[in-house]
Amino acid sequence: MTMRKSVDTEIAMQGIGVSPGIVIARALLVEPGGAFKKRRISDDGSLALEQSRFRHAVLRTEEKLRQVREQFAAVMADYAAIIDTHILMLRDRMIFDRTLEIIVAEKINAEWAMDKALGQVETAFAKVDDPYIRGRFLDVRQVADRILCELSGADMLPEEIDEQVVLVARDFSPEDILHMTGQAGFLTEMGGETSHSAIVAKTLGIPAVVGLKEVNGRISSNDLIILDGATGRVIVNPQEELLEYYQDRQRQYQQLHLEVAQYTNLRPETTDGLQVRVEANLEMAGEIGQAFEYGAGGIGLFRSEYLYLGARDNPDEELLFATYRDLLAAAAPFPVTIRTFDIGGDKQFPAKAGKSSGFRSKMEKQWSAEANPALGLRAIRYCLREPGMFETQLRAMLRASSFGSLRILFPMISSYCELRQVKEVVARVQERLRADGIPFAERVDLGVMIEVPSAVAVADTLAREVDFFSIGTNDLIQYSLAIDRGNEQVAHMYEPLHPAVLRMISQVVGAAHQAGIEVGICGEMAAEERYLPVLLGLGLDSFSMHPPAIPYIKRMIRQSRAASVERLAGRLLACASATEIRELLQHYLSRHYPDAFPADTLAS
Ligand code: PEP
Ligand code: MG
Repeated sequence: MTMRKSVDTEIAMQGIGVSPGIVIARALLVEPGGAFKKRRISDDGSLALEQSRFRHAVLRTEEKLRQVREQFAAVMADYAAIIDTHILMLRDRMIFDRTLEIIVAEKINAEWAMDKALGQVETAFAKVDDPYIRGRFLDVRQVADRILCELSGADMLPEEIDEQVVLVARDFSPEDILHMTGQAGFLTEMGGETSHSAIVAKTLGIPAVVGLKEVNGRISSNDLIILDGATGRVIVNPQEELLEYYQDRQRQYQQLHLEVAQYTNLRPETTDGLQVRVEANLEMAGEIGQAFEYGAGGIGLFRSEYLYLGARDNPDEELLFATYRDLLAAAAPFPVTIRTFDIGGDKQFPAKAGKSSGFRSKMEKQWSAEANPALGLRAIRYCLREPGMFETQLRAMLRASSFGSLRILFPMISSYCELRQVKEVVARVQERLRADGIPFAERVDLGVMIEVPSAVAVADTLAREVDFFSIGTNDLIQYSLAIDRGNEQVAHMYEPLHPAVLRMISQVVGAAHQAGIEVGICGEMAAEERYLPVLLGLGLDSFSMHPPAIPYIKRMIRQSRAASVERLAGRLLACASATEIRELLQHYLSRHYPDAFPADTLAS
């Protein structure tokens, strides 16, 4: 990143806000490894030395990564998997071997050779269709940046920073972010919502904006920066008026945070006495402490596939058992809903060093042949195709069931027969545990995720077979409106308030209650304050979301009247279009929740 002399012209930029919070602070530019030059090397002895310099830099990088892994093991246990992936990448043939080859073939220095190797890897990644896998190139670059630092002897982050600053770089790795606590925030040129760095920033509560394409040359160290981690807005050297506006917003944000925090430990109950459950969605078991700090009344969705996605090899039964047991014990007496392996579609294995073996390579081959992965061998379809792996997971879950209150949730169920098949596998696993004399809770609730339109249509039949439903609106909206949830071209058509979506939710709630079972929601819609009156009015019994949203949703619930939101839902169900629904809802929000929705903020 080139340095530029500070000028006081105000510049506004738009990136992707990945971790909320408003920061006003000076910029500090960080350039991993500093700028490097091309150096020609003529004699063979010096080339061998250059190769050895590179090997040593890789070794030192590995050593430091292992130290970071140890240091943060207790606080961020599950992110160890991310660091493991980075350690593996250090030895990736495409980077490690290729750099050594280029040093000799082109008679150049290690920095330059690695940069060339990286360029080749980038070209290969750019050809991959899947945006998730394409995004993993960021990890490769982060690893390369660390090696560059070792080659130059520079630190990734300055050792001591006197004041709180906004750190600015082409990119920061998750390891860098772990060292950032106490800093105001950060912004980067690279990155997207799904990057590991974004996940770590959100978990640590460090406001961040990524994917700011225009940073290069437009920000200098010491420039005054306004960073809005929710909207992705960044303003450099703001004029007085804008600065005052954001100082005001910052105060409001902090005040709101304090005000809303008071709801953390209050019961989610309406003013007329209707009680519902507010729970947490977790990707990693290590996030459980955070879930209860935010006032979760249980775990409504544990996305168990991340145990597979983040690990080098498939976790075995013992590792799964230990993870589930600890999770259940930590949450007791609250229930933990573990969703079985929902892999495929947009959740595939990250690119890794070396060749995949066994089941992984089989899966990768199958997936790469799929024209429509979202409609392909995903979630329960995959589990039924690979019963060995499914049974291992179920066995681990059932063994853990005596340590707390377990609910098992099956994703992407699309028919009655499929559900019957799943239940047969569960019965088989229970039978074997009994035969082996291994204890497990005889009573474990089984549930179905309602996220495929066919499951909505036959919800009454499915309801007779299970103990609860959980509506996955992320996928239900994608499949019913035919909008790829990861495709930015059609993102504007992704409409949670589409009459079809509301009617489907209503139909599912009706079928569940008719059969006397509970129905919750665990899609992102549950975390949005503006949808709460609609969902509550439609009759949902529980709401599961990322932990920081919990106090906000509890506040909405405690300011709602069940009789009133039910009437609202009835009126919305009669609307012909999303526009009509939105208008009615906006009017309702400003009348009934003026704190959360002052009339002048509703246009967005
Ligand atoms: C959903 O589809 O709404 C859901 C919660 O599952 P995921 O986002 O993991 O697909
Ligand atoms: Mg889903």
